Amino acid sequence: MKETASSFLAKSTVKVADLDHREKVNFNIKRYNDTVPFGKEQFADVNLARERAKNIKWRTLESLDQYLEAFEVNFSAKGGKVIWAETAEEALKHIHRICEEKNCKTVVKSKSMVTEEIHLNKFFEKHNIESVETDLGEYIQQLAGEPPYHIVTPAMHKSKEDVAQLFHEKLNTKANLTPEQLTLVAREKLRDKYVQAEIGITGANFIIADTGSIAITENEGNARLSASFPKTHIAITGIEKVIPSFTDLGLFWPLLATYGTGQTITVYNTVISGPRQAGETDGPDEMYVILLDNGRTNILENEKQRESLYCIRCGACLNACPVYKNIGGHAYSTTYSGPIGAVITPNMHNIKEWKHLSYASSLCGNCTEVCAVKINLHELLLENRSEAVEKGATGIQEKIAWKVWKKASLNRKMMNKGNRSIKNWVADKVIGGWSKHRAPLDFPKKTFNEMWLEKKG
Ligand code: SF4
Repeated sequence: MKETASSFLAKSTVKVADLDHREKVNFNIKRYNDTVPFGKEQFADVNLARERAKNIKWRTLESLDQYLEAFEVNFSAKGGKVIWAETAEEALKHIHRICEEKNCKTVVKSKSMVTEEIHLNKFFEKHNIESVETDLGEYIQQLAGEPPYHIVTPAMHKSKEDVAQLFHEKLNTKANLTPEQLTLVAREKLRDKYVQAEIGITGANFIIADTGSIAITENEGNARLSASFPKTHIAITGIEKVIPSFTDLGLFWPLLATYGTGQTITVYNTVISGPRQAGETDGPDEMYVILLDNGRTNILENEKQRESLYCIRCGACLNACPVYKNIGGHAYSTTYSGPIGAVITPNMHNIKEWKHLSYASSLCGNCTEVCAVKINLHELLLENRSEAVEKGATGIQEKIAWKVWKKASLNRKMMNKGNRSIKNWVADKVIGGWSKHRAPLDFPKKTFNEMWLEKKG
C-alpha cells in the first residue's frame, strides 16, 4: 500500500473516533445548512441557474486556450503582466524573481487554495520572507501551524473556545476572549502589515476573458486591501477559473455566495483589471497574474474527467459528504479535500499515489445533488476507480484477490464447498482485511444451490 493511502487510513481511523471533532464540524455544517435555503430564494429557478452556469463552464473549457489568450490580450492592454506557469515550481520561481526585484521582506496574502497547492508559505519561509495570512480563518490556521481544513472555511474544525485558547498561547491575549474581541486582535495585528508589505498576493475566483480582469469574492475586505495597499500585486490562479464575460458574474457571484456560505451575495466583490491607471488614486504600481496549470491540462485532455474543471470551489460537496463530515479535511493530506478533492487529485497528480481517495465515498450521490455547477461527482469517482484499473494502478494483492473472487463466484462447485464461517474467513483474507474498515462479511448459512433445491421442493 502506498504511503499516502496508509496515512489516509491511519488519520481517518483516528478522526472518526473523535467525537469532539465531529461535534464541532457538525455544528458548523448545520449553520451552513440552515442558511443555504435563504440564499437559494433569490433565484427564480435555482436549478436552471446551476444548469446555465454548467453550460457556461462547459463552453469555456471546450475553448479554454482561446479564452485564456483573450484574457491575456485584454489584461496586458491595461499594463498587467501575465505569467504562464506549467508547474508549481515554475510559479514559485517567478514569484521569487519578483520578490527579489522588489527587495521584498513582507508579503500579505489573502485566502487562496492555489497558493496552498504550490506551498507558497513554506517557500517564503525558506527564503526568509515574512508571509502574513490576512483572512481571519487562514490567519488562525497559520497561527496554529496547520493547512486549511476546508476550501471555504479554513478553520471549520475549531470552536470559538479553541481559537481564544490559540490566541492566548500564540499572541498572549486573555484566554477567554469573545469572537468579536478576537477579530479586533487580528485586525490590529494585520493593519500594519498591509502598509509594511512590498507585495500583496491574492487568488482569483474568476478570470474574465472579455475585460481582461480578475474577480475576487470575500467577506472581510482583506483581499481588497492585500491587492491595493502594496506596490505590487500578484494574483495566482488555476487556468480553469476563466469565464467568457463580465456579465457572467451576474450568475456566478450569487451562485458562489449561496452554495459557499448561504449568502445572497458575498460582502466584498472586487474586479481588478490591471495596475493603477493614470489619474486613479488606489491600486498597485504593478500587477501580475500567474496562470497555473499544475496538472489541470491532464484533466482537460480526459473527456470524461474534464467536467471536474467546472468547479467554482464553493465547498458545498464537502459539507454534504458523509465521509468528509466524519474524517475531516486534514485526513486527505491534499490541498483539495472532500468529493471534489477525491475526484481531481488523482488526475492532477499521480493516480497511483492518490487513487485511494476515489474509494473514500459511500457513492450516495449527495455531492452531485448539491454541486453548484452540477458536476457528476460520484460518477467521476467511479470513473477514477475504473481508470486506476485500466492504467494498472492497482496493487498485486488487489489483482489476485479479484481474480480469485471471480474464479470462485463463477464456479458453483467451489461456492458449494465449505461452511459459512470458512467462507467469511477466506473472503476476508482474500480481499485483504475487508472487515477491518467495514461491517463484517456474512455469507448465508445455506448455499444458493441448497436454497434453490428447497424452493423447488
Ligand atoms: S465540485 Fe461543485 S460543490 Fe464541490 S466545490 Fe466544486 S462547485 Fe462546489
